[in-house]
Amino acid sequence: MGAHALQATHPTRVQGRENMTIEKTGLTTTSLGATRPELVVVGPPGAAPQPGMPVWPDTPDGIDPEGATFLVIAASSEPEAHDVAQNWMTAAACVAPTRLLAVGSLADDNNRRAVEQAIAKACTGVRIMVVGGQHDVLLTLAAARTAGALPEELSAFVIHTRDLPMYCAHCRDTHRVVGQPGEIVECPGCRRQVEIHRHCSATRGSFLASDAQARTLA
Ligand SMILES: [Zn+2]
Repeated sequence: MGAHALQATHPTRVQGRENMTIEKTGLTTTSLGATRPELVVVGPPGAAPQPGMPVWPDTPDGIDPEGATFLVIAASSEPEAHDVAQNWMTAAACVAPTRLLAVGSLADDNNRRAVEQAIAKACTGVRIMVVGGQHDVLLTLAAARTAGALPEELSAFVIHTRDLPMYCAHCRDTHRVVGQPGEIVECPGCRRQVEIHRHCSATRGSFLASDAQARTLA
């Protein structure tokens, strides 16, 4: 059924543009539809996932032909994120009404609010497709889950894992940090040396971190 439906949704520029809404974006619309989108259906990644760690697809998910509407969120200004968003837009607009929200990092409160508002406005049956760096994708997915989005309504593609949202157990706040799980970083909030644990809360959208000395003192 999936393959049949995908075949039926081969995009044309005209069809795509009828359904397309682009919000707050620096993307040029002239190139939309210029490249034929790849409707790739991605299976489970080959590598065995570590419990508590997010698993990201190697290539962007294809468009779900069952989607009633689509909300594409490009939470990055990097060209790769825009390319992915444009391909999703072109393909999705042939299936159902499609909106694009292009924002910068969710570390900025204005961007975070724009994402939350767009998600709040989305209706039942929406497919929310997020592309950006790991930090912004995780926070966007968490905002969508908080707003009641179901797992099958969410799709994400991470263009890099240089940064992540870190929840500090000491200052009890979430910060954007450049680092990897298992590493020790300085908490931007309380300035403690904290270890980023290999555990990401999907609900909160962040990795837990705690005092790096606590383990040796215990
Ligand atoms: Zn802290």
